[in-house]
Amino acid sequence: MHHPEPKSIKGIRIRTVNFTMIMISCILYIFLILATIHVLEQYKSVYTSMENYIACDESDRLLLEGSAYLTEQVRLYTVTAEAKYMEHYFTEVHETRRRELAMEQLEHYYKNEKPYEYLVEALEYSNNLMSQEIYAMRLISEAEGYDRNNLPEEVKEVVLAEEDRALSSQELKERAKEIVFGDQYENAKEQISLNIANSIESIHEITYERMLRSAGTLESTMNRQRIFISILFVENVITFLMIMLLIIKPLRIYVDCIKQEKQMEITGSYEFKYLALTYNDIYELNAANEAMLRHQAEYDPLTGIMNRGAFENLKKVLAAKPIPLAFLIVDVDKFKQVNDGYGHEIGDQVLKKVAKILKESFRTTDYPARIGGDEFAAILTNITEDMQSVIKRKITEMNEALLHPEDGLPPVSLSIGVAFSESGYAEELYKKADLALYQVKENGRCGCAFYQKEIL
Ligand code: GH3
Ligand code: MG
Repeated sequence: MHHPEPKSIKGIRIRTVNFTMIMISCILYIFLILATIHVLEQYKSVYTSMENYIACDESDRLLLEGSAYLTEQVRLYTVTAEAKYMEHYFTEVHETRRRELAMEQLEHYYKNEKPYEYLVEALEYSNNLMSQEIYAMRLISEAEGYDRNNLPEEVKEVVLAEEDRALSSQELKERAKEIVFGDQYENAKEQISLNIANSIESIHEITYERMLRSAGTLESTMNRQRIFISILFVENVITFLMIMLLIIKPLRIYVDCIKQEKQMEITGSYEFKYLALTYNDIYELNAANEAMLRHQAEYDPLTGIMNRGAFENLKKVLAAKPIPLAFLIVDVDKFKQVNDGYGHEIGDQVLKKVAKILKESFRTTDYPARIGGDEFAAILTNITEDMQSVIKRKITEMNEALLHPEDGLPPVSLSIGVAFSESGYAEELYKKADLALYQVKENGRCGCAFYQKEIL
């Protein structure tokens, strides 16, 4: 049995395919996970931009509202001189502090960026206005003759200008109104609005830009994700195909081969090809063993012709066949003397020679066999009219050859008893041939006799 040379087998190894597919999958999954994380980050960034936008929009609104509220309160105070408006004003300045809150919020998100810068400018204008507003409030409280000590600190501290001190109550009021309703005041208010509008616009721009950038990255990351998923899908399909081609198909073929007791087709992966080659080797060896055993069971090991067992089977087969046949029993004359005179080994050589001569003398449709020590038999089928004379001539020729050996073996002769049957083999044929053989032995051996009723 030759072992298949691993190197001489060409084929894809399942192990390699498996390893490769696992590696590719792992790499793809890692990329996919990274892409997912990236998508999440981009999403968060978009979300934060949105959040910032909302917060900052609110800041601008707060500043605008705060500023507008101050204007409203100071104007109301200027017109009505009711203390509650001044109180409202300073509550906004010290407690509600919408403008400061707006600044803080915007500073948090856009420090050193345009939206913040615009708002700083707006606040400056607003603060500027505040000193004018406080001055106006002082003028009103002066005009109304309010007790200075009851005024808020900021108003109390205001130093009236020289020319204002001389004004009458009515004039003071006029002057205050002029401050908070005048063109200058309106212009400053416009500046505040303009800066806030600018701030909002630049927040718009920044947010839009950020979102655009994030959306772009998000899209490309998701595209990449789609590509990874596609590759994974293709890889899966390839894996299934490989499993079909390398494992399932060869397995099916192999099972079929085993069922049909055939040699295996060399197909599939390297491992299956190796298995198939090994199986085929064992298969061949098994077949050879079987043939050898069959031969041993049917043939005589010394002479190589049919043994007794096989001859018995043949007799059974021929018993069922209604064909004419001749039955011969062949015995070596005085064989004991050959053994005694030349030794057992030479005796064996003589037996082999007898078997050979029997085989060669008869046709392929005849069956010679060794049925005992120096006893042979033959069944001749396909016999013709003048069979008796043919057999006689053949026996004479055989004895001629055996009696005048050219191979150094001792001369021997054969005695042969013959019986005929018109239709198949019957057990009595043996007895008849044996009786004929007995006749030959009685008559001095070396020759043949045909069974006839008269013999009995
Ligand atoms: P006859 O003419 O009456 O047949 O005389 P014979 O000496 O041949 O007597 P018989 O047939 O009874 O003797 C057969 C002898 O063959 C007996 C045995 O020693 C010998 N013999 C049997 N089998 C073998 C064998 O396998 N090899 C050898 N060498 N001798 C065998
Ligand atoms: Mg004999």
